[in-house]
Amino acid sequence: MTREEMAQRGWPELDVLLVTGDAYVDHPSFGAALLGRWLGAKGYRVGIVAQPAWDAPADVARLGRPRLFAGVTAGAVDSMLAHYTAFRKKRSDDAYTPGGRAGARPNRATIVYTNLVRQAFPGLPVVIGGVEASLRRASHYDFWTDKVRRSILLDSKADLLIYGMGERAILETARRLEAAANDITRTAETLRGIPGTAFAVSSLSGLLELPNAPALEALVDLPSHDAIVREPPKLMTATLALEQQVHQGTQWAVQNSGGRLVVFAPPAQPLGTEELDALYSLPFTRRAHPSYAEEVPAAGMIQFSVTSHRGCAGGCTFCSIALHQGRTIRSRSAESLEQEVRAFTTHPDWRGSVSDVGGPTANMWGARCRADHRTCRRADCLTPELCPHFVVDEAENLRLLRRLRGIEGVHHVRVASGIRYDLGRDRTSLRALITEFVGGQLKVAPEHRSDEVLRLMRKPSFQRFEEFLGLFERESRRAGKEQYIIPYLISAFPGCTDDDMRTLARWLRERGWKPRQVQCFVPTPGTVATAMYHAGIDPEGRPIPVARSDKDRLRQHHILMPDHGAPEKTVQSHARPRDKGRGAASKQRDTRRKRLG
Ligand code: SF4
Repeated sequence: MTREEMAQRGWPELDVLLVTGDAYVDHPSFGAALLGRWLGAKGYRVGIVAQPAWDAPADVARLGRPRLFAGVTAGAVDSMLAHYTAFRKKRSDDAYTPGGRAGARPNRATIVYTNLVRQAFPGLPVVIGGVEASLRRASHYDFWTDKVRRSILLDSKADLLIYGMGERAILETARRLEAAANDITRTAETLRGIPGTAFAVSSLSGLLELPNAPALEALVDLPSHDAIVREPPKLMTATLALEQQVHQGTQWAVQNSGGRLVVFAPPAQPLGTEELDALYSLPFTRRAHPSYAEEVPAAGMIQFSVTSHRGCAGGCTFCSIALHQGRTIRSRSAESLEQEVRAFTTHPDWRGSVSDVGGPTANMWGARCRADHRTCRRADCLTPELCPHFVVDEAENLRLLRRLRGIEGVHHVRVASGIRYDLGRDRTSLRALITEFVGGQLKVAPEHRSDEVLRLMRKPSFQRFEEFLGLFERESRRAGKEQYIIPYLISAFPGCTDDDMRTLARWLRERGWKPRQVQCFVPTPGTVATAMYHAGIDPEGRPIPVARSDKDRLRQHHILMPDHGAPEKTVQSHARPRDKGRGAASKQRDTRRKRLG
């Protein structure tokens, strides 16, 4: 982070500079820290410039010109989503900034930072990545301007865009640039074809010379940017094609954008168990950088949480996780998780509680597909019904949690990252999970009451939620525990009508539940739900009603939240039987969802 730290390490220069819109927290849940440690372990000298001033390039240049390239990310959340509420009001807080204050990064941070790097270091290769770049990699609907924007690769003029989880692609980028011996005249050719990246070419001829080039007939030709601007349903076609590309993992895709071709190489192979184990065992301090005088709220929330796996087998249409991490679950070994938790117990900040063990969904650790996902055409492994090829050992999951709880110095192990209640075929394990590892509140995401809206979300039927709710209440009572379900709910989802919202409101009233915060749907870039919102069709092309104007959206929202204006601070919604106050685990769940966009 500083010249002094470089001097302490004896580094006259950096190999790689990472510029991020988040504060620097040396924790594996923060992308810049994770990739910095990963590249560091491979022998590269990495510096991080976090939340630089953007009125001049001096701040971004403070560590000097790096030898190989600069990597740029907006941070854990799309910068527009981080700055504005669902009703386009400016947020007043930012969990990724010291003191929790808003305003430490610019709007469209990826573009702004790339320009700064260009000014500071002319000719230096610039690679963009993170959620903002990843989900805006092709033409996308931008809610904040109500326009279709072209690929952020073209708008930022970066040399390369890394999409999805970036370890393999960023390492390959470093290796190739190193092998090219700083010949910046060859940057474009050097970086073409890396799995998990997008790059721009002026014609397909350059692409066909690549050693791993696709056959032309196998190239997925996405609707062009102009066609999408003219015909909104084509956004759905492009979005579904990119979703398939991420899931199957083998295809190349291309999109014409004003005569430039943006090429999407197949996704990078996800890291395997041994690689994940090695990555998460790197010496993270699990603290914000000591130069910060104030606490970074997100750092405290996740300090002693453990990532057990990556990927989510669900294909929820509003969610970016499967689009970013993929639907193939990759899990760490129990031994590695145990080692990580053992190390917690010697950390100076340790107080005895593991606040979360999970991934995007807590109970998918160890899950796998028995078939070949490369030929799978399903958009979701769990809905409309559980795929017969999807395997998850819930008893093993439970054994893992108990093993972690048995470590000396560990008083509690909590599951806070939300569970998929429709996985549970093993009721015994689910019961044990409810009674042993829920810290008073369990977040689940029924999202809605209407089965038609749930179908459009690719969520399980509401009956499954009610069955789970019954089990949860019975088991909590039996264990003598006062525990609550925190249901996540969404208003104004595409396909949702005022009547649907009233049905949901009635159900909540009948149970005596008063939602305090409900998330009004935000059409974030790149998701299938956003294509529905923009085009007014479902994924099969059938017309659906859409609350598009702020007035219509607010009216739906007020059906659940009659006493509230637009929520300004909170991304995720809660409904509680009683006000129990929010614990760290609850806040952590919010942060995780916010982080994943
Ligand atoms: S075959 Fe089934 S379990 Fe495998 S990826 Fe496809 S939907 Fe998921």
